[in-house]
This record gives sequence, C-alpha cells and structure tokens, in this order.
Amino acid sequence: MRSKIVAGNWKMNTTVNEGEALIQGILAKMEEVPASVQLVVAPPFTHLVPVQALLKDSAVALSAQNCADQGKGAYTGEVAAPMLSALGCQYVILGHSERREYYGETSETLVRKIDLALAEGLKPIYCVGEKLEEREANRHFDVVEAQIREVLFHLTAEQFAQVVIAYEPVWAIGTGKTATAEQAQEIHAFIRRTIADHFGAEAAEAVSILYGGSCKPSNAKELFACPDIDGGLIGGAALKAEDFIGIAVSF
Ligand code: PEP
Repeated sequence: MRSKIVAGNWKMNTTVNEGEALIQGILAKMEEVPASVQLVVAPPFTHLVPVQALLKDSAVALSAQNCADQGKGAYTGEVAAPMLSALGCQYVILGHSERREYYGETSETLVRKIDLALAEGLKPIYCVGEKLEEREANRHFDVVEAQIREVLFHLTAEQFAQVVIAYEPVWAIGTGKTATAEQAQEIHAFIRRTIADHFGAEAAEAVSILYGGSCKPSNAKELFACPDIDGGLIGGAALKAEDFIGIAVSF
C-alpha cells in the first residue's frame, strides 16, 4: 500500500508567530485525521526550527520548500540539504513551478538538488506539471514525461523509492481553477506508467503521486477518490488549519 500524503506548501507566507499559531491549529485537530494519512508541512526556512519544536512527538512531518544545488560553501543566500536534515526535515519540495518559472530552475539544477537531498536522507517531493499553453497544444504528456525522465531516471531503484511526485498543472496553481478529477486521474495514471516503464511495476505501484492546484476541502474528496491520486500538495488552503485538515480527512 502506498502512502497517502497531504503536504502543505506555505510558500512565502506567515511570520514565525503566525506559523506557530497555524501549527498549533493543525495539531489541535490531528485526532480528526486518519492514521493512514501522512501530514507534511513546508513552512519558510526561517520557521523550521520553531515549527520542528512544536511538531516534536507529533505525527506531522517537516519539509523545506527548496534546497541549494550545492552541498556547502560560498553560495550567499542559499540553504543546503545537510542543514535541513540536521534540523529534522524529512522532506524537501523540489522543482515547484514557481522555482522553475521565477528562479530559472532547470532539469540540470534539479538533478543536483535531488541527488543532494537523497544523500541527506531527505525525501524529495518532486513537482511536475504543464503550463496552460502546453495543455492547450495537447503537449502535457510530453512535458511531464520529460520533467520526470530528465530529473529522476538517473536514480537507482533504492533512491527512487524515497521520491514523492506531485503533479501540479501550472494553470491550476493559485488560480482557483482545479483540474477535473478525470484530467488529474488521466495524467496521474500516465505518470505511473512512465515510472513503470523505467523503474518497473513494483516501483510504480509504490510511488505516491500527489495532485496540486487549487485543491480545497470542497474538491479534495473527488480528487482523492481517483485510483492514481495518493494525496495533495496544497498551497493556499494549507494556510488555514481548518481547510488543511478538511483536505486531510477527505480520503
Ligand atoms: C502549490 O503551489 O503547490 C499549490 C498547489 O498551490 P494552490 O493550492 O494555492 O493552488
């Protein structure tokens, strides 16, 4: 049975105090969440230490939103994977479309980041997804296949077993437009077939593939009912404890 995961990407939102209050709100509602669902929160770097202190002894896992493509050294402003694992992070989001679009992250950069994260025992939540014009040109399968092939296919089977994939159509992120359950299931199944072709059926059956893009309590149930959707990567709705938990109870 593959893991069901609901991960909250806070992006560049909340002060430390607001972040702590959000965690307290989530922890207060944890008894509503089935034990089979792994909750993950990805606050900004500045919040990782206080958030980790609050999460100690809870079932909620800590994630970073990014890591550097170098292990250490003269890279002003960057945060390296060993720094994150030392703080107790278990996951790191990599390849988010905002990083690709605004910070020029390429497959080459992402290969280095994935390798450094895995070497530190961090589980990458690797994001893929097409832009609107790519979907309209019916190129979404090619785009997603290339994002997976270029960044994940060099991994060993053992390394790949640590990876979570998040399919996030760029046109659905923060726009209020959600992919329909049919659209999401179709491409999740395609991603699983792509993984099966390269890593084998067992790896494909085991990998968790999350949906991201305007997921909220009102649409999570329909999305999570799809056979190849194993949870969600949540942006806006992860900033309210009630909504985040409302999504987590939608399996
Ligand atoms: C995201 O950016 O990972 C995301 C899914 O955002 P939102 O839920 O706000 O669309």
